[in-house]
Amino acid sequence: MSNLEITTLLSEEKIQNRVAELGKELTKKLEGEEVVAVCVLKGALMFYSDLIRHLNIDLKSEFIGVSSYADRAKSSGEVKLTLDLNSSVKDKHILLVEDIVDTGLTLNYLKKLLQARQPKAITTASLLLKPDALQEKCDIDYVGFEIPNDFVVGYGLDYAGAYRNLPFIGQVISLN
Ligand code: 5GP
Repeated sequence: MSNLEITTLLSEEKIQNRVAELGKELTKKLEGEEVVAVCVLKGALMFYSDLIRHLNIDLKSEFIGVSSYADRAKSSGEVKLTLDLNSSVKDKHILLVEDIVDTGLTLNYLKKLLQARQPKAITTASLLLKPDALQEKCDIDYVGFEIPNDFVVGYGLDYAGAYRNLPFIGQVISLN
């Protein structure tokens, strides 16, 4: 396991309260729709599994995989599809669930890719947003928290594959 010095940025309680709020808002928005909730692997795994338990609606679950960071703490600027959806989203309402929007490249790439499959609509939700890191315009319908432009780990987010299992979000103070 890597040896990072980490300080708590968002506690487990704060995250869980916000996820419950987002779940309520999204339930209102998506009621009556044919929803496919898409988890963006791997980082959104925790947020996704908590969020969909707060969605009081019928939905189908799908997973999509992208990678842009490899084993580094900085975006490579290149998005690669590593896993595709298992079923058609044509005429369905997609709820696209991301862990964090940093440069905005990944979310914009995914929205374009999914839009081409003719869904009825795409609603986007990201637990975190780093407004100061955006490199292109990126519209997100639901954001959990806006955070400073620092590298964070935990609650699904990794550094070189580690730290995803932390129940809170930590800010990395130093890379030892
Ligand atoms: P973007 O394409 O917006 O630059 O980055 C999106 C992806 O980069 C996220 O889904 C996430 O996997 C990764 N990422 C961006 N910022 C961070 C961060 O601070 N920590 C971690 N662990 N991953 C990040």
